[in-house]
Amino acid sequence: MLAFPSRLFGQRPPAGRLPRSAGGLLVLLLVAFGVFLAAMLFSLHLSVEKSDDMSAMRQGKELHQAINNILDDVAQAQEGVALWDMLVDELAKPQPDAAWLDANVGGWLHRLFEQDVIFILGPDDAPLYGNVHGELAARERYAAYEPDIRRFVDLARGRIDQPSNEHERLPGQAPATDASVRTTGAAVHATDLARVAQRPAVVSVMRIARETPSPNPATAPHHLLVSVRYLDGDFLRSFSRDNLIDGLHYHPDRADAHAADEREAPLTSSTGQTLGYLGWRPDLPGSELWRSMLPAVAAMTAGAMLLVLLLTLRTYRLLRKQEATLSALRAAHVELKASEAHAQHLAFHDMLTGLPNRAFFGTCVDQALVRSRQEAGCAVLLLDLDHFKQVNDTWGHAAGDALIQDFARRVKLVLGADDVIARLGGDEFAVLIPQATDATAADLTKRILQDVRAPFDLPGGRAFVGVSIGISMAPRDAATRSELLRKADIALYQAKALGRNQYCFFAPDMDESLKAKAVIERDLRSALSDGGQLSVCFQPQIDSATHQLVGVEALIRWNHPTQGPVPPQVFIGVAESTGLIVELGEWVLNKACQAALQWPGLSIAVNLSPVQFRGSGFAARVIELVTGNGVNPAQIELEVTEGVFIEDDGRVQRAIEQLRAAGFRIALDDFGTGYSSLSYLQKFAVDKIKIDRSFVANIGEGADSTAIVNAVVTLGRSMGLTVNAEGVETAQQRDFLREAGCDELQGFLFSKAVPADEITKRLRKSSP
Ligand code: C2E
Ligand code: MG
Ligand code: MG
Repeated sequence: MLAFPSRLFGQRPPAGRLPRSAGGLLVLLLVAFGVFLAAMLFSLHLSVEKSDDMSAMRQGKELHQAINNILDDVAQAQEGVALWDMLVDELAKPQPDAAWLDANVGGWLHRLFEQDVIFILGPDDAPLYGNVHGELAARERYAAYEPDIRRFVDLARGRIDQPSNEHERLPGQAPATDASVRTTGAAVHATDLARVAQRPAVVSVMRIARETPSPNPATAPHHLLVSVRYLDGDFLRSFSRDNLIDGLHYHPDRADAHAADEREAPLTSSTGQTLGYLGWRPDLPGSELWRSMLPAVAAMTAGAMLLVLLLTLRTYRLLRKQEATLSALRAAHVELKASEAHAQHLAFHDMLTGLPNRAFFGTCVDQALVRSRQEAGCAVLLLDLDHFKQVNDTWGHAAGDALIQDFARRVKLVLGADDVIARLGGDEFAVLIPQATDATAADLTKRILQDVRAPFDLPGGRAFVGVSIGISMAPRDAATRSELLRKADIALYQAKALGRNQYCFFAPDMDESLKAKAVIERDLRSALSDGGQLSVCFQPQIDSATHQLVGVEALIRWNHPTQGPVPPQVFIGVAESTGLIVELGEWVLNKACQAALQWPGLSIAVNLSPVQFRGSGFAARVIELVTGNGVNPAQIELEVTEGVFIEDDGRVQRAIEQLRAAGFRIALDDFGTGYSSLSYLQKFAVDKIKIDRSFVANIGEGADSTAIVNAVVTLGRSMGLTVNAEGVETAQQRDFLREAGCDELQGFLFSKAVPADEITKRLRKSSP
């Protein structure tokens, strides 16, 4: 396979990556911010709880300390009366005075120290005196308290040992009460918490003794002072009030469920007995702070959320915008790529046929040449449609396009998969056979010729066209692309020269003839500049009726310094292909003008090449040149061939009209040899037709030529044109033509083209 030429454009896609999903990313950010906010609030909440717990713990400690203080208070209050000589003496009496006892012991302890139950027990533990809630109480009432107080009595008397201090504790706190037996100097207490008559209470039992212990202490058992202070009811209320503990209350059993903001602490004796529970609503500074901060925190959180939301939205919009811009860029890029591909295709392909163009073909040939060094050689075919111009002129450009397309299709069908066909322009095509021998190339070329021979159905009608093909082979004929194409072109030229609709392989002698043409071109240039080598001869034109000399045709002559006379057929073509014909034509026209001035009564015919008409302003130049020489254009006859009309794009028609308007006459030379001379007669206004000498030569020899000459003369006359017959060599031809109605005769029978002097002599001779 042949590779396509490298990229023409270096466009790159836009750099950078596009966000996969801007929305997804932002939602993720938003969630992350929410989690961060929640974590902050949670840690704040933990701090609040911690602060609340610490405050509650502190209050529990205070409560514990307060209970211990009450134990001390009760015991110390007892000491005020229990270590009192007067009391010992009073009790020593057989019948102690109950009123005195109530005033100085029971009533005093109740009034000053808010003790609820006070009894005095005798050495036998029997009650001697009692006061309950400030009222003197009968001794029998002691029985109701005795079971709860017995342990204290035994302790105070030393009948049992002080128990271990293991008991239930508040979490993280010291024991609820301290040791139950206290001995300070003479004072001996058994003090502890206990449940008395189903109520929590501080109980203290103290030995009653003298203030100053006697040197011989009595061995008899002491009287005992029993004090009970209830811890529920009034005590709790006043304690709650004094210590600013909110909602302090007692309940005997652990509450199943208490309010969430309540705390509870067990009330435990030194023996570890749980006497009930104290509940309270602790101070919660953290919660309070939290409550006070809550509106601000809520506002700040909401503000932060809103701000983040707004920022997120804004970022989201920006990202969307960016995404939209990038999508637009992507779309533009895709478009660019498409148009790049399109432009690339256009750069290397022909629009009409879609075939590769000259540039692409050149690349293909280069690649094939590289391969042909190792493998079999390759062949290049140059194809040129015969008479394509006529098809275009006759059927119009749409038909011409259709012909080109159909031709390309037919050739493609003949080619192999690796072969390449390209349109080089106009009706020129090229075929590359990457692997070919002379035989395979010739075989393929013959098939092309055969397929093209079939008629083409075009808009407007059917057309038959041929094709001329030139072939060059690599590496035999050339090793480079340009050389290979040049030689295929030489072969094509040869095929055309041989009569078209055939093929020619390149042969070195063709190149020789080309080289010879190059020599002619060089020499012709120097002939034009040096002078002396070129001259103009004039061939007489005779009036067929009167035999009078009516005009001359100016014909160029070149006397080459080394080769002698060179026929116009040899150098006119070279002059046309090199453009020298323009200079040459003007040179002849000048000479014709000089002759015209010399021979005022003669018409001077001058040949014009189609190439001369291609130059812009040609008609104006001719008019200027002739009138500039002081010659009347009416004396000059301009001979054109069909070649002028074939390539006309309107310019020739305008030039001819311009020249006729200036007074020149136009003669259609070599009439009948062209493709469709009659159609040109319709389109282009001319004054004269010159029957080609090939018809004249055959007069009398074939019925066809005679008929044609007759028809042309009839046609010309009917169109009001002067009819000239060229190449009259025999009297028979002269007579026939005269009979047929030709106006003018020209040929060797009368005279060859002769130098101007000869014409002057003749004119002199014929003039009276
Ligand atoms: P053409 O214009 O058809 O000129 C007539 C040619 O026929 C001339 O050949 C002439 O010598 C030749 N001829 C005339 N009578 C006879 C005859 O009876 N028998 C034969 N066999 N030939 C005859 P020439 O001079 O060799 O010119 C050949 C062609 O060269 C001309 O054909 C014309 O097309 C071209 N040519 C000559 N001079 C010029 C020129 O100055 N400018 C241009 N553009 N073309 C020129
Ligand atoms: Mg002529
Ligand atoms: Mg002629």
